[in-house]
Amino acid sequence: MRAMVLDAQREPLRPQELEPPRPGPGEVLLEVSACAVCRTDLHVVDGELPDPKLPLVIGHQIVGRVLDGGERFEPGARVGVPWLGWTDGDCRYCRSGRENLCDRALFTGYTRDGGYAELAVADERFCFPVPADYPDLQAAPLLCAGLIGWRSLKLAGDAERLGLYGFGASAHIVAQLAGHQGRRVFALVRPGDAEAAAFALERGAEWAGPSDELPPEELDAAIVFAPAGPLVPAALRAVAKGGAVVCAGIHMSDIPSFPYELLWGERVLRSVANLTRRDGEELLTLAPRVPVETDVQPFPLERANEALGRLRSGQVRGAAVLVTRHA
Ligand SMILES: [Zn+2]
Ligand SMILES: [Zn+2]
Repeated sequence: MRAMVLDAQREPLRPQELEPPRPGPGEVLLEVSACAVCRTDLHVVDGELPDPKLPLVIGHQIVGRVLDGGERFEPGARVGVPWLGWTDGDCRYCRSGRENLCDRALFTGYTRDGGYAELAVADERFCFPVPADYPDLQAAPLLCAGLIGWRSLKLAGDAERLGLYGFGASAHIVAQLAGHQGRRVFALVRPGDAEAAAFALERGAEWAGPSDELPPEELDAAIVFAPAGPLVPAALRAVAKGGAVVCAGIHMSDIPSFPYELLWGERVLRSVANLTRRDGEELLTLAPRVPVETDVQPFPLERANEALGRLRSGQVRGAAVLVTRHA
């Protein structure tokens, strides 16, 4: 099979012909049609996340069809594979409904091979049926941008005025979910990025402006998607007393020190780590009802490095999605 392989961090992916992977017990072999590109992929490639499996096939927003293996799905079934690839099921986190924090979790496209390839293997318990309303390409970004966004939105509580810092793949989905729930969305984008601001307004934000300024009203919560530490005190400054700032990314540059008064007033600062299968089931049920529309920019699998480069430099509107010849 064709795959884009990471041999070492801080090096470009290399197109390679690999032996087809074989599914073990409880695993399915998938013919991959689409795999969306996530900022986490960049963190793995750029060496900001430690100790990946190497060599590695990255990618954790996989849409494919079951070819073989497992018992849960019929051959031909269309499934999605997310970041959470395996858990032990018996650590204190798993036993308390927090499998996202599992001590021994394995992650798709990080500590297990992922979807920048024509074939992939996944634990069938961690696959989701893909809602029929979404073509493969449009479904792919739901599997991490959507899922982590959904979990972040839940952790933002019942905030009416919601700020989104960074308006990319995840925020464009969250803005639609939040609007559906009757919240008001304020988008805070990179200063000077008029395109991102226009995109946010198109996708349901009532206001969009630069992240180094305060929004026109106090926020009840903010979600920080961009991996820039200075946005954390900026977001704390923008939220009202009792408000929450949720950091949605897996990696962020250092957070500068800030006066305690920004946290005072029972403001809450927290991160979101990974996902539970329940988050996935909830989002994939809700998305077609909204209905959430995903903006995608397709790239052939072989051009994965270009897709990553465009994400790194902020040139992707919505989500970049790699497509194979099976799409
Ligand atoms: Zn566990
Ligand atoms: Zn991701």
